[in-house]
Amino acid sequence: MSGGARAGGAALRGCPTLINAAGPVTRLSGAPLAPGVLDAMVEAETASVDMFDLQAHASRAIAQATGAEAGIVTTGAAAGLMLGTAACLAGLDVGRMNALPDTDGPSEIIVARGQRNGYDHACLAAGARFAEIGMSEGLAGAGVRDAEPWDYEAAIGPRTAAILYVESSRSQPPLTEVAEVARASAVPLIVDAAAELPPARNLERFVAEGADLVAYSGGKALGGPAGTGILCGRRDLIASAALQCLDMDIPRAAFCPPADFIDTSRLRGLPRQGIGRGCKPGKHEIFGLLAALEHFIAEGDEARHARWRDICQQIADGIGPFAPAEMVVEGAGDPGRVPLLTMRCADRAAANALRAGLATGSEPVQSRVDPFRPEFLILNPICLRAPEIPRLIAKLSAYLDRKGGRTDG
Ligand SMILES: *Cc1c(COP(=O)(O)O)cnc(C)c1O
Repeated sequence: MSGGARAGGAALRGCPTLINAAGPVTRLSGAPLAPGVLDAMVEAETASVDMFDLQAHASRAIAQATGAEAGIVTTGAAAGLMLGTAACLAGLDVGRMNALPDTDGPSEIIVARGQRNGYDHACLAAGARFAEIGMSEGLAGAGVRDAEPWDYEAAIGPRTAAILYVESSRSQPPLTEVAEVARASAVPLIVDAAAELPPARNLERFVAEGADLVAYSGGKALGGPAGTGILCGRRDLIASAALQCLDMDIPRAAFCPPADFIDTSRLRGLPRQGIGRGCKPGKHEIFGLLAALEHFIAEGDEARHARWRDICQQIADGIGPFAPAEMVVEGAGDPGRVPLLTMRCADRAAANALRAGLATGSEPVQSRVDPFRPEFLILNPICLRAPEIPRLIAKLSAYLDRKGGRTDG
């Protein structure tokens, strides 16, 4: 064991490991790969391919799954936002591609203030600036309104390059209403749907509701490699995104990508290595993501939900006599949701103490405290591997027992 591992602790090739009951977050190395993903990645090792052929192949599979005209595999949803923004800023103008992040064209992205978040840094990195609209007065506890369709309409002008919409159950106004405004002004609408799978119908929903580009994470509940994602949408925008992340070190005469993927007649030349070069996926990741997508659709929401619900129930049953008074599997009846095992603690401090207590020792257990209900500890089943469950139960039981059988801190 190397010096990096905890004394006597669990380790993977010398690196300390943990049990992840916090869900598929990047910080904790994402979700377990779906069945078939590793096999696809191993098989990818047996041959060489042209990466334009491979992304065109991916595009057809993504189009099939999402109903979009086209798509590419990216290195995550954030990469999708950056490439999608670059596509909106440059279109198929090769000069503009080469100049990014500088641009002499429209470069503002309209976004609702309440939807700003750390991941939208990716849009700025491509060269855009945000024009913020609306206020989340409801969330602030100081009113009833959020951004409204007219706010978007009023903000659209000659500098507008796109609208960014961050999808969540709390997003206001509904996407359909923003899409209507975007369509009327021919402004591209980018949707960040990174964590909106499941339900599986969300693969098609945002394109159907009028999004021009949609970014998903591959490494969250989709079960693809942690460093992958999907960007799907309008064919011309996806072509622009592809040209700005694929390897362009090729003479124009030798450049003959599949015509359904890149229409070369619309290019006056070839761009140099693009602004997205730094987020290139390899063929192993692309084949892996496609296998995950296939499995995600084949397994279906019901079976996936039952699998996750069983893990929650196993933990609930396992801690038996040590269980806190209020412990439920939330979302257990809704196959479109990720079921979560939630435990109500005495107060915020008790919940934090429980979370912190579980995160100590030779094999830390990572969990979450709900930011909207800070007295609730939440265990997410997605990243729990079967052999880890008894160890999690033992640790949780021991901690709850030490605290007198109740989570009162
Ligand atoms: C996770 C997340 C991202 C980033 O996704 P990656 O695939 O890790 O790049 C972006 N936006 C939202 C809303 C997210 O939840």
